[in-house]
Amino acid sequence: MNDLALVLQNVETFYGKIHALKGVSLEVPKGKIVTLLGSNGAGKTTTLKTISGLIQASAGKIEFYGRDISKEKAHKIVSMGLIHVPEGRRIFKDLAVKENLELGGFTLKDESLRRKRIEHVFEMFPRLKDRQKQIGGTLSGGEQQMLAIGRAMMTDPKLLLLDEPSMGLAPLIVQDIMRIIKQLNSEGTTILLVEQNAKIALKLADYGYVLETGELVMEGDSTELRQDERITKAYLGE
Ligand code: ATP
Repeated sequence: MNDLALVLQNVETFYGKIHALKGVSLEVPKGKIVTLLGSNGAGKTTTLKTISGLIQASAGKIEFYGRDISKEKAHKIVSMGLIHVPEGRRIFKDLAVKENLELGGFTLKDESLRRKRIEHVFEMFPRLKDRQKQIGGTLSGGEQQMLAIGRAMMTDPKLLLLDEPSMGLAPLIVQDIMRIIKQLNSEGTTILLVEQNAKIALKLADYGYVLETGELVMEGDSTELRQDERITKAYLGE
């Protein structure tokens, strides 16, 4: 039994000569929500891309439930149950809602399990059930975000990486999405949540890290971070 879903040790990532991650170390315990905060260009998306194998780390170690995945290919990492929902809700825009979900579960050989998972996604997102035949690209931004998360849920991930799920959404929809993230977590999904919206992320998360220009500058329980003056001034606009 490994209680840590994810461990990063001194991870460094470059884009050519740009040193985007300068030794990032963090942990995501199994069953928790951990948030990674930081302003534009801090390296949050780069951290997620490095974890999911879309970019190769140049140094450091990434462990997924005790297994070193630093050198693994992205498709292998996905098959281990580490699922990345990227920024900008990349769904299949020309396909219907239900077809998007079916594709999310295409690795499932058991047809009845796939149907069960789709039903579960529909229970969680009744709006998607009502729109199951609608073409993805015609959904609202919030519905597309729900579909992106729903598609990720099709594989019953062991760790979900969520990149700015609140981006560009109206406050009420953001509340909806956050409620669903909380529900997923209470059903047992471990989550690493990247957010620019520190207020909502810290409400949801158990623990948080703050990234600035490729380095972690602060970490702590989310209740502590919420009260920390450096956080309230820099990220909560107070
Ligand atoms: P945002 O919230 O704006 O998405 P972020 O914290 O996710 O910011 P990253 O997208 O990880 O930040 O970017 C970190 C740094 O790496 C930035 O300076 C960015 O310009 C740079 N960067 C990101 N992608 C590339 C790329 N493909 N080529 C070169 N530099 C890149």
